[in-house]
Amino acid sequence: MSSLSTINADLHCHSVISDGTLTPEVLAERAKANGVSLWALTDHDELGGQQRAKSAAQALSIDYVAGVEISVTWMGQTIHIVGLGIDSEHLGIIEGLRRTREGRGNRAKQMSDQLLKVGIPGAYEGALHYAGNHQLISRTHFARFLVEQGVCKDTEHVFKNYLVEGKPGFVTHQWAPLDDAVAWIKGAGGVAVIAHPGRYNFNALQMEELYKHFKNIGGLGIEVITGSHSPDQYQTYGEIAQHYGFLASRGSDFHDPSESHVDLGSLPPLPDSLTPVWSVFH
Ligand code: AMP
Ligand code: MN
Ligand code: MN
Ligand code: MN
Repeated sequence: MSSLSTINADLHCHSVISDGTLTPEVLAERAKANGVSLWALTDHDELGGQQRAKSAAQALSIDYVAGVEISVTWMGQTIHIVGLGIDSEHLGIIEGLRRTREGRGNRAKQMSDQLLKVGIPGAYEGALHYAGNHQLISRTHFARFLVEQGVCKDTEHVFKNYLVEGKPGFVTHQWAPLDDAVAWIKGAGGVAVIAHPGRYNFNALQMEELYKHFKNIGGLGIEVITGSHSPDQYQTYGEIAQHYGFLASRGSDFHDPSESHVDLGSLPPLPDSLTPVWSVFH
């Protein structure tokens, strides 16, 4: 077994800088306690936690790569692209992400207006209260507010009944174009990775188109082992990685100890047959 495949790398998680509930420092301690040896904090559309995460990781002797998860609109749907090994001070990506964050405030107000119409007042202020970073108000913060209000018993139920297409509180939003997101990541010296491919509602042909286009524009990786995938999907996306020659990534997508099903560093290892995305960082 190659030792590189089996290292405990966790290259996808969120802090209070986006929609997680722990600080970068507490996440680093949790990663350490769970045996993570290579870590990336990948806040949504934000690099504000990178220096803190890197310093905390260094102090605990965990290898660190800078990361981000960019919200992208592709063929009319939202997808997420993770950037790993980026220079988090690079002006191109910083400016691109600033623009990507820009519409979140207005979107949140529209979400709140819709929720008011179904009898839930005060959602904008309520969600903002949960947002550690007011530039990054997200559906997760609304979900926490709706649980607090007793509208649903947990955030999973919120997303089933609210905040998703066809349900109250959903507002269509135009995120970054895929080509731009990949260009920002590459411009900052990083590797672009398709996040949790098993979560998208595209048909097989559209997914094929996504893989081909992503590869054409210089995308290099795909998440295979993620908290969003079932064991069957580990197999499916492992085969996709091999078929398209993508580097394979592994990350819990951890947000919060009580909300997240998968803890930092606790997923199965990458299959030995795949080339880990971290082979390019070593
Ligand atoms: P936003 O970027 O504001 O659209 O929020 C997206 C975030 O909502 C994701 O990063 C997840 O953290 C969370 N989310 C989306 N769908 C679900 C779901 N079905 N269950 C739990 N959390 C979800
Ligand atoms: Mn999230
Ligand atoms: Mn995501
Ligand atoms: Mn994520």
